Amino acid sequence: MRLHNTLSGQVEEFKPIEVGHVRMYTCGPTVHDYAHIGNFRTFLFEDLLRRVLLQQGYRVTQVMNLTDVEDRIIKKAAEHGQTIDEFTEKYIEAFFEDLDTLRIERAEHYPRATEHIFEMVSLIDLLNEKGHTYVTDGSTYFRIASFPRYGELAHLDHAGLKAGARVDVDDYGKDDPRDFVLWKARKPGEQSWETPLGIGRPGWHIECSAMSMKYLGESFDIHTGGVDNIFPHHENEIAQSEAATGKPFVRYWMHAQHLQDAMGEKMSKRLKNFTTLRDLVAEGYQPRAIRYALLTGAHYRSPLAFSPELLKAADSAIKRLDEFAVRLGPIPTEAEPTPDVRKRWDDALKDDLNLPAAVGHLFEFIKAFNTRLESGKATPEERAGAMAMLRHANRILDVVEFPEVVDAEVDRLIAERQAARDRRDFARADEIRQQLLGMGIQLDDTKDGTRWKRVR
Ligand code: AMP
Ligand code: ZN
Repeated sequence: MRLHNTLSGQVEEFKPIEVGHVRMYTCGPTVHDYAHIGNFRTFLFEDLLRRVLLQQGYRVTQVMNLTDVEDRIIKKAAEHGQTIDEFTEKYIEAFFEDLDTLRIERAEHYPRATEHIFEMVSLIDLLNEKGHTYVTDGSTYFRIASFPRYGELAHLDHAGLKAGARVDVDDYGKDDPRDFVLWKARKPGEQSWETPLGIGRPGWHIECSAMSMKYLGESFDIHTGGVDNIFPHHENEIAQSEAATGKPFVRYWMHAQHLQDAMGEKMSKRLKNFTTLRDLVAEGYQPRAIRYALLTGAHYRSPLAFSPELLKAADSAIKRLDEFAVRLGPIPTEAEPTPDVRKRWDDALKDDLNLPAAVGHLFEFIKAFNTRLESGKATPEERAGAMAMLRHANRILDVVEFPEVVDAEVDRLIAERQAARDRRDFARADEIRQQLLGMGIQLDDTKDGTRWKRVR
């Protein structure tokens, strides 16, 4: 399996540190509001990665943090006269509901920043001991000059670093504008924690280093996020973690490109050009069409422009998949997916998660197989293989609704078969028996008439 690594700028062969087990960390939502579908594009990319790793036979331990202490949260909580926990509860609950709506598989751990203050303080302590920090006005900063590899992830030269640095207007006391805050001194009215570092709260970056290393170890396999996380967030995570442990932090850094509005602007809260999942569902769009559109609309490393047309195309693609499942009928036999299609599907996904290509192969197959079905040439074995292929693909896509055989349909086919036998059309009668078998229904002709049962 090959994955694109932002660190090297290359697609590389993927090998986890521990054989057969992938440990990955995904930057989660800032729970100050509902997540928008741009955020969900990134979370769906992570769902894709997780499902492909599982389908490749790996065990996966995935951690997604919930950023529940941050400037906007503190400000909004104070405006509502609430504690951080009271304010974020509603958005955390909404986030998990949205994950379910989009059928995003659950990670193994969802640690919250507010529940890991101790771990963050310990990590900052270690950085203090090793001489990577300084304190100004009660806030602790990371000294970037103490970490020579700074900038390697974002591939920034010194000039680029200066230009790209986000200067926090609150941070008057920094020695170098690139330096970032690890621990912020309390400001009046802010919720704070009393720690050996002083009364205050953690900066944003330190939470991901502390929580990822707690649950995954000092070195782990994959760290993901949207491309806007590369700099400075992930660059800072590397600096903090590696300065503290002296070990390589993460092997593979993977980033999803942005979801854009129709004008090609990044969808964001700040630009107010965002749509939430809830808005779309209220407008009547099927959640599975939203899932399909965000997953397959473009390769994860290409920008994707969001539009009603994209959802319409997703809708009709899903309809074709559903119809294919109906045409094949429920086939409970344990067939292997049609080998050549399966290989093309797997190869595309193993090639840096090329889902658009994989889906292309799937639809080519469906088109050809539909022709075979129409001409009556498809054997029961081929149908079973095709159904297994559809299920294999749906293990990743998770959008198809497989039909259940209903008793009335079975009774109708039995009556039709009886009519064929009465007119001595045994070929047709046999065809119906085969069709039912394909649907997992076995017939038994007794002296009291035809009985049927479901078989595996
Ligand atoms: P936030 O809640 O702002 O911390 O963002 C959560 C995740 O969504 C991060 O991984 C961001 O990189 C990602 N993200 C934010 N905006 C977009 C967008 N327009 N398209 C794709 N991902 C995004
Ligand atoms: Zn993070």
